[in-house]
Amino acid sequence: MTKKLKFQTPRGMHDILPEDQPAYLKIAKTAEEMMGFYGFQRIDTPLVEDAELYEKATGASTDIVEKQMYTFKTKGGDMLALRPEFTPGIARAYFEHGMVDRPQPIKLWTSGPLFRHESPQAGRYRQFHQLDLEVFGEESAAIDAQLIQIAHALLSDLKFSHLIIEVNSIGDSQCRPYYKKTLVNYLRARQQSLCADCKRRLRANPLRVLDCKEEKCQRVRSQAPQMVDHLCEECKNHFKQLLEFLDEADLPYHLDPYLVRGLDYYTKTVFEIFSDKTVKAPEAEDAPSRTALVGGGRYDNLLKQLGGKEVPAVGWAAGIERIVELMKAGGVISEHQVQPKVFLAQLGDLPKKKSIKLAEEFRKAKIPIADSLGRDSLRAQLARADKLGVPLTLILGQREVLDNTIVIRKMDTGEQETVALGRAVEEVKQRLKG
Ligand code: AMP
Repeated sequence: MTKKLKFQTPRGMHDILPEDQPAYLKIAKTAEEMMGFYGFQRIDTPLVEDAELYEKATGASTDIVEKQMYTFKTKGGDMLALRPEFTPGIARAYFEHGMVDRPQPIKLWTSGPLFRHESPQAGRYRQFHQLDLEVFGEESAAIDAQLIQIAHALLSDLKFSHLIIEVNSIGDSQCRPYYKKTLVNYLRARQQSLCADCKRRLRANPLRVLDCKEEKCQRVRSQAPQMVDHLCEECKNHFKQLLEFLDEADLPYHLDPYLVRGLDYYTKTVFEIFSDKTVKAPEAEDAPSRTALVGGGRYDNLLKQLGGKEVPAVGWAAGIERIVELMKAGGVISEHQVQPKVFLAQLGDLPKKKSIKLAEEFRKAKIPIADSLGRDSLRAQLARADKLGVPLTLILGQREVLDNTIVIRKMDTGEQETVALGRAVEEVKQRLKG
């Protein structure tokens, strides 16, 4: 056994190993194609932002800001935070670059790493990746439905079946305060039956009690008043339209009247998409019966809150690690290795130098080649070529270099021909065709 190194990946963080890269690549390609089709433009924002941006946008009393943010003071004295989510940074960029003055809607997408100091467990990391999309300047429920449909289509393209879409409306600044009061009255009367965290949430962020996974809190929740019964006319109509659009699109949704999501800025629509598969080892005690893959919603007040003008907006984020883990478990990842067509064998120093340049000519001609510059014996190199299953091997020895030639060997028959070095790519092309 190899000796364990003193240094390991920091707790909750992970390496993405070569064998997992095909899955990440597949998701990136599928997403890029889909985003292009639906008219989204890519944006990339810095890994760090002003910590205050998240306090203002994500919300000072959310778990993300309160407990999970990696904040640090720079040598210049600025308080920055590693981004724990994408939306605030993209909303900042939307104003900073005057996108607010362009024809709306503005449809943006991004993907990359995020950082949250969470308790690590299966499917929950401290550094993880999301695919994220945001639409600014569109208030119609049609766009909420379209975003849900895009998330569903993306997962379906990645061969996920049995997806469950949970939707709810959490109202807006008109109707939510009344609902909050009704909810707090209900919860106060049952305070003794809540967990310690929820007793605290009752004061700071009562809606989050509905989110608690503790069994006793869920029991209290099961009889709690529901936001959908307290929506104002505008929110009610918006929600009704959303459900009609989802019906029309034949999407497998389910209304979860207690879905609230962990962030402060949501208004009206909130949704999550689950797989009925789990990333947790089945023998684990508190194994959840399903995995949340996508979460999102509408946030019509956030941009104004950041100091800009009022702009309706909606978006979602998908957890890439969780998608990868389920793809791996379901065996839906195909090896993404490029199959070489030619093996380039070289004997000695001078041929090695020449073959580096020759390899570049093949790359430009889009003919995938393999070599093993570390090996010197022809036998070892031919054995390697055989193993790779290439139809042709090019052999470059000292004599060939001096004569400006190269040998082409047909691997099935062992037949060899000498051709001019400058014509190597053309000669190979012809033989691969024939
Ligand atoms: P959120 O940004 O919290 O709304 O999460 C959106 C999606 O990102 C979730 O449904 C998960 O798939 C994924 N996700 C959130 N937090 C983590 C984490 N700590 N580790 C891995 N994936 C995560």
